[in-house]
Order: sequence, then structure tokens, then C-alpha cells
Amino acid sequence: MQTSFDIAIIGAGPAGMSAAITAAETGASVVVLDDKPKAGGQIYRNVADSPLQDPNLLGEDYLQGKALLERFENSPVERIQGATVWHLGDNGEVLFSKDQQTCSLTARELMLSCGAMERPFPIPGWHLPGVMSAGSAQVMLKSDALVMDGAIFAGTGPLLYLIVAQYLRLGVKVKALVDTTSKSGYIQAASHFGGALSGLPMIQKGLTLLAEIKRAGVPVYRFAESLSVQGEEKVTALQFNCGKQQHLLETEHLFLHQGVIPNLNMTRSLGLEHRWCEQQLCWKPDLNEWGQSSIDSISVAGDCSGIVGADGSQMMGKMVALNQLYRLGLIDREQRDQQAVSSRKQLSRLNSFRRFIDTLYRPIDQHRIPSQADTVICRCEEQNLEQLQQGFAQGARGPNELKGLTRCGMGPCQGRQCGHTVSELLAQWRGERVEEVGYYRLRSPMRLLNLTELSRFNRISAANPPEKKVLAGERR
Ligand SMILES: Cc1cc2nc3c(=O)[nH]c(=O)nc-3n(C[C@H](O)[C@H](O)[C@H](O)COP(=O)(O)OP(=O)(O)OC[C@H]3O[C@@H](n4cnc5c(N)ncnc54)[C@H](O)[C@@H]3O)c2cc1C
Repeated sequence: MQTSFDIAIIGAGPAGMSAAITAAETGASVVVLDDKPKAGGQIYRNVADSPLQDPNLLGEDYLQGKALLERFENSPVERIQGATVWHLGDNGEVLFSKDQQTCSLTARELMLSCGAMERPFPIPGWHLPGVMSAGSAQVMLKSDALVMDGAIFAGTGPLLYLIVAQYLRLGVKVKALVDTTSKSGYIQAASHFGGALSGLPMIQKGLTLLAEIKRAGVPVYRFAESLSVQGEEKVTALQFNCGKQQHLLETEHLFLHQGVIPNLNMTRSLGLEHRWCEQQLCWKPDLNEWGQSSIDSISVAGDCSGIVGADGSQMMGKMVALNQLYRLGLIDREQRDQQAVSSRKQLSRLNSFRRFIDTLYRPIDQHRIPSQADTVICRCEEQNLEQLQQGFAQGARGPNELKGLTRCGMGPCQGRQCGHTVSELLAQWRGERVEEVGYYRLRSPMRLLNLTELSRFNRISAANPPEKKVLAGERR
């Protein structure tokens, strides 16, 4: 009797769902664990069950997720929603929390598809109440139909424009869009024009969003720099420069966004090898062309592997699943290679387009690498730039030493909000490449746990899938 699953997939976004469908079609026993009540990931959050009166207003790309979700829910896969994975072992062990209990299972192959998170935006005052990321504004919108009237959106990147457009379509007032896309971004991006041509429909979509924002009469401030949030107890205004002109816009709600980066806590705590990607200005796990990591039985797909977007995540999920099926002996090499041809081609086209997008919307240095002493870097432990500089002066050369001396990165988010900033700051102070500086050493548990959860233990086996009454949650 088989007690281990063939494949355990962490994350039910486009990458995880597409991988699960592919793997299950071949008869593999597959379990998918996701911490949200419903599958869909970031982009397709609540797509089948939106709290909005007219979800069509969120756009075609969002609605497309319905078909994928339906295929996923109809595939013979063990789906466990509301499951927060907090430990993975290199022996295929998975530990997770579900309904206030600790559960464990094992799998011969693991696939991590835990998605992306928004890039930190460490400007003065970004920690003040009233300031949030634009992605969080979108989460509130998709999850609970909650919106904030009269907010300012600031930053750069396609997701920012999409969220502003979604707000406007719902009739929500937007006070201003402060666009930090730089002139040099436009100039450098011109050299990737060939890549841009491979993504013409996406460029058209982007231009339509910008036209929507303009038509709605939202004031747009272009080439904004030196952003700083004003206020004592909470945000009262956003200050910035456009060329030589300084602006001060009063607001109670500010949504910041400057792109997304891989969600790395899991790949890091497994000790996988990582490398710094200068194009996307982020750490990525080191993977082969099939998404296989430095531990053979652990693969990574989707935005967690490096930002590939929703379509790219689906392609990658399928390719990674095919390789895992091959490794399990369920298909042969020729079948794997043949079935991956179309996804590989599409992924390569998307990657050329991605180079153009990454260059155009590259967040400027001053909004990633703070220079003002009182700018908070670690929000959990409230450590600012000056305190980190003191730690460096006392001899902390690497992220872990700095963590030990200052507590920066020691809070509940485990460095998600400060890790990239600390790597880039130390590289600047040491006059070396980020690659040489490295990143925090992370360990499980990856999430906060309480003793009650730990004391209740439940073992799940492929031969004895979870009892509906205990673990079904939102499963359908
Ligand atoms: C806030 C936010 C909003 C976004 N909105 C859009 C959008 O509207 N349109 C768009 O084109 N792109 C959007 N993106 C980018 C987008 O996430 C993707 O390109 C796409 O969804 C990536 O797919 P994925 O399968 O790799 O990951 P995701 O879709 O992110 O799915 C990953 C899943 O893994 C789960 N997970 C993570 N950690 C754990 C854990 N420890 N245990 C269990 N489950 C876990 C997550 O909750 C999530 O459900 C957004 C990104 C962010 C961060």
C-alpha cells in the first residue's frame, strides 16, 4: 500500500493548478496544499465566487481563470485548502497547519509554486498607518469587495495600472497616480524592442489601461522621484519631485507598488541554492530548464521561481510536472520532451517580452536602497537605516550578522519585507556585488505556530486521504 504521494504541490495558483492537472492526467497520485480558503492564487482569487456584483469589471484576464479552476477542481487530485505549509524536508516530508492541527504527509517529488510577493518600497514613512501596498488593496477588493475612496496610487509596473483601472471601473474615486517609471527605463527598454514585439497583445492591454486612467481624468504625475510619506501618527500627504518641481498631495490612503519578487521563504529554508538576478533585481532559486532545484526531488514553478507572470506560471507548472512524471517513471523521456514543446516555446516568447517589461519598469535605486537615516527597513522589529548602519560599523558584514546585532529580519515575516533591501544595502556599503553579500539563513517553521496546533497531530497518507469532516474545509 502506497503511503507517500507521488507529487505534493505547494500553492494552488496558475502554476500549481496547471501542474496538478498535468500530473493527474497520467495517473500520478497528487496532493495540492494551499493556505487560502479557495484555489486560484493571487490573480484568480475568488474568481468562481466573487463578492463583487459584477466581477467582469476586474477584466478578461481575471475571468479566464474560471476555466483553469474548473479543470483543476474536476481533476482527480487531493486538494487541501486552508493548509499553511511551514516545513518541508529534503526527504519529501511536508508539515502544515490546518484547522488548528499539525498535519504531515510525504511525497516522492515536491513542487513549490508559492508565487510572488510585492517588492518592498522602503521610502521615508512607508510604515505609517494609511500606507499599504497596491496588491493588498487588490486583495481586499477581490476577497471582500472592500475599496478605499480617494486614495493615491504610487509606483510603477503593469499591476499598479491594472489595480487603478479596476478601481475606476468600479466607480471608486482615485485621487492621483504618481508614476515612478523613469526616463532611463524608457530609453533602456528601447533596446529590447524585439522582445516587446513578441508581446504585442500585452502591450495593447497596457496601453488600454493607461488610456482608461487618462479618460477617467485621474491626475497622473510622471517620472516622479524622491517619494516620501508625510505624517506623524498616520499618513497625511505624499511628497515627491517631478523634474525640478516639488509636489505635496494630501491623502489619508496611499497604495504603493513597484513590481513583484519571488516568495522565497520556502526555497530558502530548504537550503536550495539561489542566485541574484540583475534583470529582475531579486533572488531566485537556481533551477535547471525543468525547474529542478539543487535538490533533485524538489522543483519550483511559477513566480516563485522568478517572475514569469500568470501565463508563464501555467506553462512552467506543466513543464515541471512532466519532468516529475518522467522522474517517477510514469512517462518516458520522449513523451516528456514532446508534451513540453508548446509550453517551452510560449515560455521563451514570454521571457523575451519579460526582459522588455523588467527594463521599462525597473524600480529606481532611491526607492529600493534607502538613504535617509530614519527610514524604517525592518517593519517587524522597527529597525531603521541608521540602526543598520551602526550594526555595519560594529562589524556586521553579512545579513545574518546584521540580524544578530540589530534584530533586523527576526520578526514574524522572517525577512520578507527587509531581506532584499538588506542585501542591496550591504552590497553598497561593502562595494561588492549582491551575490557576494548573500541573504538571511532561514529555518522552519516558516509561519507562526502555537502549542495547541503542535500538540494535535494528524498523519495523511496517499492510501488514506484526509477525512472530509476534519480536513475538507472549502474543498468541493
Ligand atoms: C498581491 C498580488 C496581486 C497580484 N495580482 C495580479 C493580477 O491581478 N493580475 C496578474 O496578472 N498578476 C497578478 N499578480 C502576479 C501574479 O501573482 C502572478 O503572475 C501569478 O498569480 C503567479 O502564479 P503562481 O501560481 O506562481 O502563484 P500564485 O498565484 O501567487 O499562487 C501561489 C499560491 O500559493 C499559496 N501559498 C504561498 N505560501 C504558502 C504556504 N506556505 N502554504 C500553503 N500555500 C501557500 C498562496 O496563498 C497562493 O494561493 C499579483 C501578485 C501579487 C503579489
